[in-house]
Amino acid sequence: MIKIAKFGGSSVADADHFRKIRFIVEADPARRFIVVSACGRRFSGDAKVTDLLYLVAAHVRYRVSCDDLLADIGQRYFDIADELGLSYPIREEFAAFAEKAKAGLFSTAELVSRGEYFTAQLMAEWLGLPFLDAADVVAFHHDGTLSMRRTHELIQERGIPGGFVMPGFYGATREGQVKLLDRGGGDISGSILAKCLDADLYENWTDVSGFLSADPHIVENPQPISRITYAELRELSYMGASVLHEEAVFPVMEAGIPIAVRNTNRPEDAGTIISDREDYVEDEPIITGITGKRNFVAVHVQKDHMSNEVGIVRRVLSVFERYRVSVEHIPSGIDSFAVVVQGADVKDAIWSIVADIKSEVNVDSIKVVDDLALISTVGRNMIGRPGISGQLFAALGSEGISIRMIAQGSDEINIIVGVRDVDFERAIRAIYRAFSDGDHLLELKDLKKAEEDARPRVEE
Ligand code: ASP
Repeated sequence: MIKIAKFGGSSVADADHFRKIRFIVEADPARRFIVVSACGRRFSGDAKVTDLLYLVAAHVRYRVSCDDLLADIGQRYFDIADELGLSYPIREEFAAFAEKAKAGLFSTAELVSRGEYFTAQLMAEWLGLPFLDAADVVAFHHDGTLSMRRTHELIQERGIPGGFVMPGFYGATREGQVKLLDRGGGDISGSILAKCLDADLYENWTDVSGFLSADPHIVENPQPISRITYAELRELSYMGASVLHEEAVFPVMEAGIPIAVRNTNRPEDAGTIISDREDYVEDEPIITGITGKRNFVAVHVQKDHMSNEVGIVRRVLSVFERYRVSVEHIPSGIDSFAVVVQGADVKDAIWSIVADIKSEVNVDSIKVVDDLALISTVGRNMIGRPGISGQLFAALGSEGISIRMIAQGSDEINIIVGVRDVDFERAIRAIYRAFSDGDHLLELKDLKKAEEDARPRVEE
């Protein structure tokens, strides 16, 4: 059994968290392949080491002194090493790094990557596992994209079968030039490693106990999600929920390896399992989660007899394409349709877009609605079950919330409604209530029971 355990920034923020990690790692002999981020925030208002390192890079570039900044960063590592009594020569190593950094001898990527590098060095000693440098095994092409094939080869070749600690977030080209993944990319490193080692499970340890079925700022005590499919997760994170880097699901998804999102501060919590295992479980909730985003803009285009005209939608969309605006939805009627886009994408361009549509496409009217919020109710268990959308719309109706747009993904795993921005939170609460009994989300067996109760009884 092989488990990859990736610990995020807040999980490695200080010595106390290092202790928690050792407890977690020692509790399961399958946890031998560890990936770490750079030290994150210890308390709200604290800085993440990665952000500070980017600041150092900017100071060096503009030739502004950054001695204090470097001293602060170094101190974070010294504190951990001192408190845990580690013998890794962190003071010497950090001083050498700081000198080189100030002399401008590092690329920004290499400079920033030292955040994870030093964390992993200390963690390796603390856990009694060898250190494996990501620069030696995570392979990048020169254009900054990852070479999965070479990474796979290198991990087979250089990975230490008994286990190791590897820094996340970076890798290197064939020539040894350090390249970074996206921000939050330590999640991707863990996923790649899981795929290359053909792991049984990819554990992503963070500071929350997995995903919640709704935003706790909106719904009081939302139920944690115990299992979610990759597709559901894509839907939920696209619309707002952010616990795991979105790209981190792909390597393991392709390999069929489940991801467990766990809480370093509460290892007793089950967390969320992300997997595509298909089976019918009666005590699974009907809906998996509700999420949403405000600030969408809908451009309504109307023209009599539009339905007989060929190419009008394409011509309108080509205007959006020219402005490089990505289209979210196109709800349509007989003689009208709307193009729904993210407000931030059209902030400066909306009136030019409207003017171009008017001049290039022969339409009767164009109307812009800019206070649209979209709410997505996601659930694999909604597929093929009649009455779910009815329940959802009824809940909004009885709350007096007018629905301005409805869309359902073709795979039926989500129902999206557009409401006015001001109704956003109220609508989410109403939907949540409709699918819960106050304490818990309603389960498939509740649905079955309700169906049975509703069935007319035949007298014997
Ligand atoms: N340290 C990097 C960041 O802050 C990567 C990570 O934490 O996953 O973005």
